Amino acid sequence: MTDLHARHKAVLPEWLALYYGRPLEITHGEGRHVWDADGNRYLDFFGGILTTMTAHALPEVTKAVAEQAGRIIHSSTLYLNRPMVELAERIAALSGIPDARVFFTTSGTEANDTALLLATAYRRSNQILAMRNSYHGRSFSAVSVTGNQAWSPTSLSPLQTLYVHGGVRTRGPYAGLDDARFTAACVADLEDLLGHTRDAAALIAEPVQGVGGFTSPPDGLYAAFREVLDRHGILWISDEVQTGWGRTGEHFWGWQAHAENGPPDMLTFAKGIGNGMSIGGVVARAEIMNCLDANSISTFGGSPVTMAAGLANLGYLLEHDLQGNARRVGGLLLERLRAIGAAVPAVREVRGRGLMIGVELVKPGTDEADPKAAGKVLEAAREGGLLIGKGGGHSTSVLRIAPPLSLTVAEAEEGASLLEHALRSI
Ligand code: PMP
Repeated sequence: MTDLHARHKAVLPEWLALYYGRPLEITHGEGRHVWDADGNRYLDFFGGILTTMTAHALPEVTKAVAEQAGRIIHSSTLYLNRPMVELAERIAALSGIPDARVFFTTSGTEANDTALLLATAYRRSNQILAMRNSYHGRSFSAVSVTGNQAWSPTSLSPLQTLYVHGGVRTRGPYAGLDDARFTAACVADLEDLLGHTRDAAALIAEPVQGVGGFTSPPDGLYAAFREVLDRHGILWISDEVQTGWGRTGEHFWGWQAHAENGPPDMLTFAKGIGNGMSIGGVVARAEIMNCLDANSISTFGGSPVTMAAGLANLGYLLEHDLQGNARRVGGLLLERLRAIGAAVPAVREVRGRGLMIGVELVKPGTDEADPKAAGKVLEAAREGGLLIGKGGGHSTSVLRIAPPLSLTVAEAEEGASLLEHALRSI
């Protein structure tokens, strides 16, 4: 065990789990690569989810952060803050939500916390609908709507949460149904649930379940849900913490694959917008955002240094059409990984959208999830110079691939070859 690992274990919580038997100390990065303390270089196929959405050490963001930090580092919601107003204007315009208001936090968890606070206050109800296998963060209210029990350390809840089918397509009672039948079954399930309950405040859902293993419902599922929710006055919160900013390739926001009956009432974002800096937030229609009558949440959201990072990063990803890059390079990568997966018996399914690709592992010849195999592939990939993640509701048996959005075709091919090697080595 390295000295730093020993010190980490001695002073930090046991549940702050680290990847790898020999945990990595990342010391620096550039583009799609990072280096560890021993000087080893890795192709980063997980940085996109671990918050570096665009590229490591992106000069435009570094410069904006340094310039702002050189002027003033502070955080206050009590004084006018130019970069905060500018970023809020840009996000409101991009959100697709009419009469949008934006509130900044420092993480996705806090963003969801805020959205839940708003929804419960607006609707005067603490009942929330969430999806099975979902993940929304680890604060007290966010774990209360997290269906993925591996990530929900307490069942004590300030909310009454009811879980809905639909986030997972290829397992569970409706597996194997075609798009239309799957959607109809999930809608019937939701209607049945609402027939037995009081007025829920909101449905919170990830358009593509992230921690749950990169699973997507059929396009239009949440639009079909929306029709039912509207009849009950229930709000729709789209958790775009992983799916926002073009990551899914086809759309700028994940909810846009479900847009038929209009945008969500609120969306939450975080992670990639800061390209590694700590930004989260909520976009909501004004009447919902303004329903609170007391100053709320915390002082740190929207601090000028993080806002400067967000503005530079958002400008970069729009100018360079990184959504289009996610669609093109992600499409090639998905195709290549599907071909690799077809020849590896432990691979049950390769699925994804844009640069969000999941590789689900099972014990060969069975349908039984194999988290041990996922752990071994993670280690083998690291030995080969590739960083990937893992997740999945049926134990952590899904390899998660979410490279920075600026990934090149050559890097996609290199990463696919490294992953193939790791898969074959176990
Ligand atoms: N929502 C989703 C969909 C997430 O994937 C995450 C983080 N993995 C969160 C919320 C929480 O975000 P944060 O870690 O920034 O608190």
